[in-house]
Amino acid sequence: MSVLEVRDLRVTYAGGFAAVRGVDLELTAGQKLGVAGESGCGKSTLALTLLRLLPAGAQVSGQVLLDGEDVLTMRWGRLRAVRWAGASLVFQGAMHSLNPVHRVADQIAEPIVLHGRATPGAARRRAGELLEQVGLPAARGRAYPHELSGGQRQRVMIAMALACEPGLIIADEPTTALDVMVQAQILRLIEGLVADEELSLIMISHDLAVLADTCDRLAIMYAGRIVEKGPAHKVFTSPHHPYAQALASAFPRIGDPTARFAPHGLPGDPPDPSALPPGCAFHPRCGVALDTCASEDQTLRAAGVGRAAACVHVGEGR
Ligand code: ADP
Ligand code: MG
Repeated sequence: MSVLEVRDLRVTYAGGFAAVRGVDLELTAGQKLGVAGESGCGKSTLALTLLRLLPAGAQVSGQVLLDGEDVLTMRWGRLRAVRWAGASLVFQGAMHSLNPVHRVADQIAEPIVLHGRATPGAARRRAGELLEQVGLPAARGRAYPHELSGGQRQRVMIAMALACEPGLIIADEPTTALDVMVQAQILRLIEGLVADEELSLIMISHDLAVLADTCDRLAIMYAGRIVEKGPAHKVFTSPHHPYAQALASAFPRIGDPTARFAPHGLPGDPPDPSALPPGCAFHPRCGVALDTCASEDQTLRAAGVGRAAACVHVGEGR
């Protein structure tokens, strides 16, 4: 059975900003999915929606089936349990999500106690084990967040995410705020944990090379939609969609500090969700757009084994 199945997910922020516009995803047990796209393409909105963490006023439709249960309609009490024990989120900037006045071991122990999984004493011992699992000495648990480096704080965030033994980890740019050496260490850590614990993983990044190296499958997001998906190495080495091609050529190597953020040869920025271009949302930036692309919207269609892309030049439209 699928660990996660997302069907026709749409998210509109207050004011009519359509940040996610019909996303379908499927993840089986132990599978690792990478989601790539420039800043503003809706990746974080997608991640937050999977655990119903959007700000008030956001309109959501579609389905988010986590182990067969719809996160979008489940009762509040159930949702709280699912947020730790079903799936948990690791995001960038751990400093802002750790409580500055509590020791980190106590913060790791808290959800374990809250969900009735252990007594406070046993939860603290478990916090020590979790710290060691993420490569920190258990004694570091006595530290406050400001006493740790950025990489150590991100390790603490990962320990917290593992605390209630979820089946799925959603990591939203988990290494973006870290320097290159530490980035690689944290990525290896996540990869190792996911393999050891047989977790499913959704890893979000603007860096396609990082994802291609870590994940089995890739989904490329543009203007709130998935414009290409398929096996990670195929999408990375021979992308079909012109946007995926631009991203793939922009990120040649893991940890390469040059040209990390601006895709080569791709003018402009992703569109504002309040002012989407008509037709294919990518056409104003596309080097191979046809006249029809300005009026005809494109949806995902089959493009090789296990692959799909939303471009007039791809698949049946070719
Ligand atoms: P990404 O993670 O790919 O950078 P986001 O999901 O953060 O993209 O943002 C997608 C779009 O939604 C952006 O245009 C962003 O400005 C907009 N957006 C994000 N959060 C909000 C919000 N709380 N209210 C209104 N618009 C938002
Ligand atoms: Mg984001």
